[in-house]
Amino acid sequence: MPDGRTLMENEPSLEQLYFSLNELLDRISSQEEYFYGQINELKKREKELLDAWQRESQHVKHLREVISSTEVLYDASSEQEISERAVEILQNLYPEAAVRFLSTSTNRAGMKLLAGRRLTPPLAEKCRISPLDCPVMKRGKPYLVLPGKKGVFCSEVASLPGVSGHGCLPLMAEGVAFGVLSLFFQGNQSYDDKDIEMLNIFSTHIGLAFTNARLIKIAVKEALTDQLTGLPNRRYALDVLQKEISRTERYGGIFCVAMIDLDNFKKVNDTFGHGEGDRVLVLFAGVAGRAFRKTDVVARFGGEEFLLILPQTSLSTGVKVVERFQALFNQATFSGALKAVNLTFSAGVAEYPADGRDVESLLNTVDQRLYKAKESGRNRVVGKVVAPVAIEKKILAWREENGC
Ligand code: GH3
Ligand code: MG
Ligand code: MG
Repeated sequence: MPDGRTLMENEPSLEQLYFSLNELLDRISSQEEYFYGQINELKKREKELLDAWQRESQHVKHLREVISSTEVLYDASSEQEISERAVEILQNLYPEAAVRFLSTSTNRAGMKLLAGRRLTPPLAEKCRISPLDCPVMKRGKPYLVLPGKKGVFCSEVASLPGVSGHGCLPLMAEGVAFGVLSLFFQGNQSYDDKDIEMLNIFSTHIGLAFTNARLIKIAVKEALTDQLTGLPNRRYALDVLQKEISRTERYGGIFCVAMIDLDNFKKVNDTFGHGEGDRVLVLFAGVAGRAFRKTDVVARFGGEEFLLILPQTSLSTGVKVVERFQALFNQATFSGALKAVNLTFSAGVAEYPADGRDVESLLNTVDQRLYKAKESGRNRVVGKVVAPVAIEKKILAWREENGC
C-alpha cells in the first residue's frame, strides 16, 4: 500500500465508494425532484383552495346581498318598480353581465321589456321567441348554459357572439310563468352551480314580490270600486276631487263637478222590484262609461247618486255635457219595461273655484243645485248660482207665517 496502510479484507475499494456516492447523489436528486413535485402540487392545491375560498366568499357575499335585497323587492309598489330593482340588484352582483327582464304582454302573445342593463347588440332588448314557445316559460324551470358549454336548448340564445355563458330564469306568480329574467355573461366572466342556486332563490323572490304587488293592487282597486256597477266608489271620488282641487290650485284653470240623482227611483224598486232597480244602476254606469272622456270621473257616490268630475271644464260646458248624457240615459230608459216609469235624473253642477274652493263647499253647492232641480220638476240640470235652498225655505216659511 503506498501510504503504508494495509487494505483490510471487505474494505470497499475506491471504485465502489465512488459508485455508492453516485448512487446516493442520484437518490438525493430524485428525492429532491420528488419534493419539488410535491411542493408544486401543494402550491397548486393551495391556489385551488384559495380560488375556491374566494368563490365561496363571493357566493356568501352574493347570498347575503340577495337576502338583504329581497326586502327592497317587496317594498316596491308596482311591477315596473320590482323589475327595475331586480335588475339593479343583479347588476351589483354581476357588474359585467347584461341583464334582461321580460314580462308577457297582456294577451301572452309576446314579451315586453320591463327593465334591462347593458343590452347592446347582439343582445336584443326583446326575445324573438313567443312566450308560448319559450322553453323556460313552458317548463317553469331555469335554462342555464355554463361558460364554455354549448346550449342547444333555445335558438334565441344558443349562438350569441361574445357571450360566454347565460341563464334564463322563469318568473312565476301563483304557479304561472309571467316572465323571464335573463343574464348574459361576456368575456372571461363566469358563473357556476352556486350562482344558479342563488339566482333561483332570487327569481322565486321576484315572483313572490310580483304576486304581492298584484294582490295589493287588486285589494286597493276593490276598496275603491262599487261592487254593483263597477264604477269608482265614494271614497275614490272624494280622493280624486281633492287631488283635482290641489292640481288646479297649483297649475291654475277650472274644473266642473256634478251630482246626479235618479228621479223617483224608489218607484222603480216598488214597481219592478229591487233586482230591476239594480239593473238600472248598472245601465246608468254603462251609458256613463260611453258618454264621458277618459279623463272624466263618474263615481257611484251612494244609493242612486253619482258624482261626476270634469277636469278643465267650465260651468256652461259642464251643464251641456251633463244634459247630453241625460238625453242618452233617457233614450236608454224610455224603452222596454222601464218605459212605464219614464226614468230620468236630475243634476246639480258647480265650477271650481267660483262655486267653492274645497271639497265640502263644492259638494254643498252641487247638492243645493240638485235640490233645486228636484224642486223645479226633476229631469233637469241646474248649474246657475242659486240662493241656498235652506235659506229660501226659511224665507218662504217666514212669509207664510207672516202672511206676506
Ligand atoms: P227623488 O227623485 O227625489 O230622488 O226620489 P227617489 O225615489 O229617487 O229618492 P229616494 O231617496 O226617496 O229613494 C232612493 C231610492 O234608491 C231608495 C232606495 O231603496 C234606492 N236605492 C238605493 N241604493 C240602491 C241599490 O243599490 N239598488 C236598488 N235597487 N235601489 C237602491
Ligand atoms: Mg237620492
Ligand atoms: Mg233619487
